[in-house]
Amino acid sequence: MDLVAYVAKAPKLGETVTGHRFRTVPGGKGANQAIAAARAGGEVAFLGAVGDDGFGAEMRATLAEAGVDVRGLRQVPGSSGIAHIVVDDDGSNSIIVVPGANGTVTGPSGEDLAVIAASSALLLQLELPMEAVVEAAQAGKVAGVQVFLTPAPAQPLPAELLDAVSVLVPNEHEAAAITGVEGPEAALDALLELVEEAVITLGSDGALYGARSGERLRVPSVKVDAVDTTAAGDTFVGALAVARTERRGMADALAFASMAAALSVQREGASTSMPTRRQIEDALA
Ligand code: ATP
Repeated sequence: MDLVAYVAKAPKLGETVTGHRFRTVPGGKGANQAIAAARAGGEVAFLGAVGDDGFGAEMRATLAEAGVDVRGLRQVPGSSGIAHIVVDDDGSNSIIVVPGANGTVTGPSGEDLAVIAASSALLLQLELPMEAVVEAAQAGKVAGVQVFLTPAPAQPLPAELLDAVSVLVPNEHEAAAITGVEGPEAALDALLELVEEAVITLGSDGALYGARSGERLRVPSVKVDAVDTTAAGDTFVGALAVARTERRGMADALAFASMAAALSVQREGASTSMPTRRQIEDALA
């Protein structure tokens, strides 16, 4: 859950300031991607954990309302994962992330393994303990499932994780952090030394796709008036996974994802801004 306070100027250590607005926004990369995929027409099951607080109940309800199967969402004692965000009048922000229940997630249980094996795609990100992510990715690979990884928050990626990933989807900063190479074209070459396929998202500049087979695609963004780009990347990867599991060609899948993300940035909020399949298809048509 994102807890967002808006203030004229962020407080210094020891200082108290009065803010002018506060809101809670269901968020987190996993939840955002699950909701994006469900709205884009996927049949989605969520594996993870919330705490026994009100935020946990609200996150569960938000996912369920979007049509996500939440039977694999466990409740554990303590707080749900939160991001405490202070936004000042310049639009600058400072963020404290407390993993809470997310920090308790371990590798997939027997039931989780059955869910993974019955799926065509597995979407992973790094807001969970690395060991849990590695074990899930390996389970996906063993089951022959396409494993998508959003490598955020940026951190070193163990070889056993990269070995299990089918499609790596970093943004430009994450791609540079992983490879140590600046510039998307060069970073893509370096990423393809690590994984079979990669998509580097470039914000309003679109995205760049490459595969070890030699295929390269440049995906322009759809020109829109962006209001709020929060979770654009999550919307992109959720829609991309859905399109890929329908065996669309990569160019079509990327166009679908790019349109989904472009529709989402025109509305405020994260989960509330994600377009439905109908909206994506109408816009493409
Ligand atoms: P976030 O962290 O906010 O989820 P991100 O940094 O992971 O975003 P971006 O590269 O900013 O991801 O954006 C993902 C995709 O969303 C882009 O590849 C593009 O298709 C689309 N997108 C982002 N910003 C815009 C924009 N201003 N106009 C149109 N499309 C956009």
